[in-house]
Amino acid sequence: MSESSKKDKLSEDKKVIRCIVCPTGCEITAENVDGEVKIIGFGCKRGEEYAKEELFEPKRIVTATMRVEDGFLPIIPVRTEKPIPKESVFEIINELSSIKVKAPIKVGDILVENIHNLEVNVIASRDMPIKT
Ligand code: SF4
Repeated sequence: MSESSKKDKLSEDKKVIRCIVCPTGCEITAENVDGEVKIIGFGCKRGEEYAKEELFEPKRIVTATMRVEDGFLPIIPVRTEKPIPKESVFEIINELSSIKVKAPIKVGDILVENIHNLEVNVIASRDMPIKT
């Protein structure tokens, strides 16, 4: 993303972000100053990178459930292996709710490969044995 489009995306004059990368929890502030985004308050480089991503390209791990055929339970909790763009989260949850997977399933099994071409797999969050 270019610097100018990054600046455009900070719609408010000031935004405060709590860094969650380590337990210190620095309060990071982004401000529009003369058309430039200034980021202050981070205690280290990792926090600065986290703040930039949160401001300009926020991502989230998606947790959801999928329906199971022949499973001990009718649904299984699942999650994305990596964070995905925040704007895709609801679309992905909706899609996962419409897919049925077949038991048995082991925790960590890939249930959907490369969902929406995001280069992220959806994996099982628990074992799901066959219904007996
Ligand atoms: S900015 Fe650095 S030191 Fe502060 S919470 Fe984030 S990771 Fe920890």
